[in-house]
Amino acid sequence: MDQTNIDDIYRDRVILDHCRNPRNTLPVERCDLSGDAVNPFCGDEVHFQISLSSKDLIENVSFAGDGCAINMASGSLLSEAVKGLTIGEASELSIKFVESMRKSDDLSVDHEFIGELSALISVKHFPVRIKCALLAWSALEDALST
Ligand code: ZN
Repeated sequence: MDQTNIDDIYRDRVILDHCRNPRNTLPVERCDLSGDAVNPFCGDEVHFQISLSSKDLIENVSFAGDGCAINMASGSLLSEAVKGLTIGEASELSIKFVESMRKSDDLSVDHEFIGELSALISVKHFPVRIKCALLAWSALEDALST
């Protein structure tokens, strides 16, 4: 993994797929929670709208974003990952993912828990790019804290 090249990340099948065909881009019918995050330094932005089916179950997510491939893939992957979770579970996933991105070793990453989001983990070897992968999570936290 120490030989990871940034181009390999851009060529990753999952990243490419989510970047070219972002999921959940239709507006939600009823917006219960919304969150935004913007990185003025690179122009990345992420906006989420969330509808809840019961008090705290995430029924649907709408993702809108702009910026680089990693940012777009991250927002799309996140929107898929949190659908069907409770707010508590989504926060737990957020904490685990952000922790995984900040840890220097690869062994402590719980790939089973984070699922397809694993595709983003190698971004952590590129400090200038970490913010691109984490911006969507700031937007999620913004939504969940409202
Ligand atoms: Zn970016």
